[in-house]
Amino acid sequence: MQYYISTRDSTHRVSLSEAIAHGIAPDGGLYIPEEFPRFMAHDFEGLSELPEIGAHLLAPFAEGDPLAETLAEICREAFTFPAPLVPLERAPAPASVLELFHGPTSAFKDFGARFLAASLERIRRDADRKLTILVATSGDTGAAVAAAFHNRPWVEVVVLYPKGLVSQRQAHQLACWGGNVRTFAVRGTFDDCQRMVKEAFLDPSLAESHQLSSANSINVGRLLPQMVYYARAGLELWRATGRRPNFIIPTGNLGNALACIWARHIGLPIGEIVLATNANQTICDFLRTGAWNPRPSVATLASAMDVGNPSNMERLRSLHPQFEELQTQISASSVDDIEIRATIRRDAHELGQLWCPHTATAAKVFRRLLARGAKGHWVIVSTAHPAKFNDIVEAQAGREVPLPPALAELLARPRQEKELDASLDALRAELQASA
Ligand SMILES: *Cc1c(COP(=O)(O)O)cnc(C)c1O
Repeated sequence: MQYYISTRDSTHRVSLSEAIAHGIAPDGGLYIPEEFPRFMAHDFEGLSELPEIGAHLLAPFAEGDPLAETLAEICREAFTFPAPLVPLERAPAPASVLELFHGPTSAFKDFGARFLAASLERIRRDADRKLTILVATSGDTGAAVAAAFHNRPWVEVVVLYPKGLVSQRQAHQLACWGGNVRTFAVRGTFDDCQRMVKEAFLDPSLAESHQLSSANSINVGRLLPQMVYYARAGLELWRATGRRPNFIIPTGNLGNALACIWARHIGLPIGEIVLATNANQTICDFLRTGAWNPRPSVATLASAMDVGNPSNMERLRSLHPQFEELQTQISASSVDDIEIRATIRRDAHELGQLWCPHTATAAKVFRRLLARGAKGHWVIVSTAHPAKFNDIVEAQAGREVPLPPALAELLARPRQEKELDASLDALRAELQASA
């Protein structure tokens, strides 16, 4: 039986289904597997597609849980689009791009959101109350969650985003759903949206009228499936070259990168892991000094990475409690807005490659590593399609970004949203009007 324990209390043990249903441990800690399984590359012989690698890789993480029986089905339902490794042919050293933006909302968060939705659907099969998922979003999470839960009759999704503070196309993706998804443009900031969600969870009258849940990125149901594309990419390059590829990962809350660290920890062929952050320096400062100093986030062009207190660091520190050991596992490098713009412009011209502002941080770090003489095969992890941030990208690249079909389809739908004051009273009134 695989249990999940809290990062703050290893005696608090729950099953996988419970960890997914609760999201966060009652003591405020994050759920982590009590024991990690071990794999070798040859355990995956003959497997090359995401759903089959996922079912094999995640089986020990679901051992003894009711989800184990339908895990293969969940993986087929969640991984319906590819995560291709595309060679970066004009790069000055061996490199590939891991494209994680081929899902319905053109960012990597589709993988986690779809796996979470497929899992929760089975966990909640016999539940008698409808679930209401509240999501505060700074852009990509809300759309991925809305897409993943849209038209599932057992759940209602309420998306709160800061009006005017996401890109035009992001706003459209958040508001184009209708049905069981309600979208609110909050007259406030992302922090206001987050505060409203937290207050809603503590509100006695909402607790009575609604079964509230969240779908934020600390849920293990979003973290576990992200290991699968790292496993697939690592195996593909290992089989082709006999060497472990290195990964550069655009990082905000450390959810995507932690999945890569876990995948390497359990034995997949992954070499160095380098985090690329924007001007938010919390992780870089920590890795240099050992002092963990969370601070308010600063706004950057790579807005989905504007995180001043990356919550998944708690999971990484519980994996490597000794700071000196942790320091040997990852490194990090910070990229500011001037460098993001310059990298988008340079790589559009020199490599013929268009990056979203988040991916551009990893592309910049790749150049820095080469300048320092780094060897090996490097994988630049691309977290979103550049067309989602066309204003920023086109201004630097000097040409239009082609629209991927999934994004074009969403942009053709009408927007359905309401404005909302940044207060719990306003949110409560909306929720209870529909109850
Ligand atoms: C969420 C997001 C990130 C940051 O991922 P974390 O898991 O929070 O580190 C990077 N790029 C894009 C496009 C994102 O949406």
